[in-house]
Amino acid sequence: MHHYHRLRETLGTHPIGAPESEEFLEILKILFPPGEVEIALHLDFRLRKVSEVAGAAGVPEEEALKKLESMADRGSVLAKKIEGEMAYALLPVYPGLFEYPFMKGGDDETRKRLARLWHAYYMKAMAAELARANPPWNRVFPAEEAIPEEYEILPFEVASQMMAKASDIALANCPCRISAQNCDKPLDVCLSFDGAARFLSERGMARMISLEEAVEVLKRSEEAGLVHTGSNSAEKLVFMCNCCPCCCHFLRLITEHNYPEAVAKSSYRASLNSGECIGCGVCAEERCPVKAVTLEGETAAVNAEKCIGCGLCVSTCPTGAITLVKRGNYQPPPATAGELVKRIVGNKQKSGIGD
Ligand code: SF4
Ligand code: SF4
Repeated sequence: MHHYHRLRETLGTHPIGAPESEEFLEILKILFPPGEVEIALHLDFRLRKVSEVAGAAGVPEEEALKKLESMADRGSVLAKKIEGEMAYALLPVYPGLFEYPFMKGGDDETRKRLARLWHAYYMKAMAAELARANPPWNRVFPAEEAIPEEYEILPFEVASQMMAKASDIALANCPCRISAQNCDKPLDVCLSFDGAARFLSERGMARMISLEEAVEVLKRSEEAGLVHTGSNSAEKLVFMCNCCPCCCHFLRLITEHNYPEAVAKSSYRASLNSGECIGCGVCAEERCPVKAVTLEGETAAVNAEKCIGCGLCVSTCPTGAITLVKRGNYQPPPATAGELVKRIVGNKQKSGIGD
């Protein structure tokens, strides 16, 4: 067990931490079985060539390579070829250790056991840990059909424009819905980009798709009432999830755990023209993932504070009574992923709650 405590400590140095819990140690035992965990202890979040890892672990290079490949195939570590040699790094808990093994599929019993352990870990410790990230790790992108034309639209606000910056795009099944099994929303809507896309497709966890197919995924997701959430930086995307409020580990921070600011809102909010509302209730009962719209007698009412600006209520309103408008005092996302990480780490240190 000593090895697993040490591995957890290293994983806890990531800005999205890895709080202590028995369940997490059990998860690590599945993802890094005895015989392999000893090699994983010589990794961190920087890619290291296999020769370097083998040297540090004191094992022949061939043996280290075999074990690291086994972990990479399982979605437990990241792998990439550098200057003709394989290199490996630890994956953070999110996005990585939670998601990738579920994307891989495979042995049903192991998957069910992992799902039970992740659920327990999330409820006991990880939800609070995810909610500590300030600024949040994930950001809401509005449904494309709902984006109003009367404002200047900044590229970082639009999911498809952000996706167009990527050289590679891959599509996988949603790990949150596979794991939680709380609804029957579509599974094949989980998008990743560039390095993450290449790794996941090489290891059989996702398949490469074109930008046109990725835009179709957005459309299907909007129709199904799924919220686009992606990396919270203006520069580029690492992933773009299409989330339901009953399975997603991030949206549930809002809907179940009372952390209303745990996911960054889009730059829009819903606005109601009550004169045009016929009180059909579609927005409140079928579309809003966070219960920001309610039916008050014969008319809908929007709680602007609660609204995350997903735009899902807009396209299904039969009278066009509900639209998106720019949110006042909107704070744009960090410019780069590096800045996001720096700010999360800085804020954790300021609040004195580092791992
Ligand atoms: S009211 Fe609900 S569905 Fe509409 S934009 Fe806000 S969060 Fe999304
Ligand atoms: S969907 Fe439109 S018409 Fe129906 S209650 Fe909501 S705002 Fe009113």
